[in-house]
Amino acid sequence: MRLQQPVFPDTVHFGRNSFDLLPTRLSPLREGGNALIFLLDPFFSGKPLHQRIPVEKNDLLLLPDISHEPSTAQVDQLVALVRESNLQVGAVVGIGGGSIMDLAKSLAIMLNNPGSAADYQGWDLVRYPAVYKIGIPTLCGTGAEVTRTAVLNGPRRKLGINSDHTPFDELILDPELTLGAPAEQRFYTGMDCFIHCVESLGGKKQTEQSTFYSTQALSLCREVFYEPKRMDACTQEKLILASYAGGMGIMNSQVGVVHAMSYGLGYVLGIRHGLANCLVMDKMDEYYPAATEEFRELLSCNGVTLPSGVCRDLDKDTLNLLTDVSLGMRPLWENALGDDWEERMPREKLRAMFSSI
Ligand code: NAD
Ligand code: ZN
Repeated sequence: MRLQQPVFPDTVHFGRNSFDLLPTRLSPLREGGNALIFLLDPFFSGKPLHQRIPVEKNDLLLLPDISHEPSTAQVDQLVALVRESNLQVGAVVGIGGGSIMDLAKSLAIMLNNPGSAADYQGWDLVRYPAVYKIGIPTLCGTGAEVTRTAVLNGPRRKLGINSDHTPFDELILDPELTLGAPAEQRFYTGMDCFIHCVESLGGKKQTEQSTFYSTQALSLCREVFYEPKRMDACTQEKLILASYAGGMGIMNSQVGVVHAMSYGLGYVLGIRHGLANCLVMDKMDEYYPAATEEFRELLSCNGVTLPSGVCRDLDKDTLNLLTDVSLGMRPLWENALGDDWEERMPREKLRAMFSSI
């Protein structure tokens, strides 16, 4: 059991055009000839944001492939690439959605720790502090900018590097950067936040702090997604704060049934986190009845139709693998169902729940 308070980013810059602070914030990190590593979401390749990144001579600006969710192998490749360049790294800066946030956190950790990123998937396995890291989200909802986990697909399962060395040291939360997100992507990633709140508030591990943050985040999600036509910097300010508060909420508690199942869908079927969560949330009448109703209202309000029959024709082995991966998420089940979760969620029941998706 962890007795101390979770570690949070020390410095948070919030507001429109706060991205402009970046050159000033980076300058002390360059002292002593340090180079900086920028990981930019490839969506922005060649776009104005790309040109605004203050890259200098020795820096590396990388555009990692995020057509699949990040993996431990991908992190190992990034580490090898940076090591080959023989740079003395002053900071890692991640600019993008949750995938880039997790890659940046993992890279910063692995530059100072031996072995493969897969060795650190789990809880409190990281030995040495990471390189200084700055997170600049361009999508809102995952909370990856604030949490103490960096979620990766590994050789055996999808699992985060959960540690006190994982959170960013510094954040720049600039709503202007999130404005171009397509409506459907914005919805799926935004619903990740909604679901974080539902699972945190509906779980056994909630605390005064998590209740506070999750309640605030939930109310901001409602303001944003019940009025979907309005997508401007003001709404995005609310959403970026919701994501941050939702992340703080789960940092002080835990997620639940939806995430335990969606990790399986992500790992086994390669379904992206936001969509995977939504597919599961739509089937949660037994566990989160009021929130499931509300979620369906939000789907309709935002004109989103979920794909159906995703798991209908899966063979027995695949369904078993989904079930195994999901049941491996012990802390999530404990939070959702209590210490006797194994009796309350027998394999057959979970397999049938997957089949219904
Ligand atoms: P994402 O980062 O995977 O990006 C989805 C798509 O949106 C990509 O094609 C990306 O290029 C594009 N994109 C990003 N910003 C954009 C913008 N402003 N405009 C247009 N397109 C943009 O999506 P996500 O939902 O933010 O992140 C999902 C990932 O986050 C998953 O890998 C999941 O496991 C992880 N996650 C991590 C945590 C954590 O606490 N560490 C929590 C939840 C989810
Ligand atoms: Zn999530």
